[in-house]
Amino acid sequence: MALLDIVLEGDPRLRQKATKIRNADESLRKLAADMHETMDDAPGVGLAGPQVGVMRRIIVAFVPGQEIGEGAADVRLTLLNPEIIRGSGREVATEGCLSIPHWIGDVPRMTSVTVKAMDLDNKPVRIKAHGYLARVLQHEIDHLDGIMFIDRIEDKSTLKEVFDEEEEDAEMVG
Ligand code: ZN
Repeated sequence: MALLDIVLEGDPRLRQKATKIRNADESLRKLAADMHETMDDAPGVGLAGPQVGVMRRIIVAFVPGQEIGEGAADVRLTLLNPEIIRGSGREVATEGCLSIPHWIGDVPRMTSVTVKAMDLDNKPVRIKAHGYLARVLQHEIDHLDGIMFIDRIEDKSTLKEVFDEEEEDAEMVG
């Protein structure tokens, strides 16, 4: 496994649409493992292909159980070609992004989403997510379409530069 370089805001790759994955092979499984390692090291709770310069539709996520609910297990996901097929509700929470270090802002997202995707064994999967995990998935799927969290901020006065301690208070960084 290896740590990958995280692409930063200003790099045009973050503004491009990633391409669909036809078949998960050994090299893609290695990429996924490296993305998990890079995300954990950052640390973040989500990472998308374009953020490591790979213009393919792959995202990884790790959400500690305590963010999901009392007694919930940790969730670690690798999703290929993820697509939101249903969504409902709306809530505003603070987000940050590994590609825009030290900046946070309040982003409205759907409260619940159903995501259709493929796993690393090329099998279809369907994830129903609420709250925190739903937010992570929406943030990462946006990356595959060249959309950054700053684009989604409605109240621009909430966008601010922070020091590390404050940043840890951000709802999620992905
Ligand atoms: Zn991000």
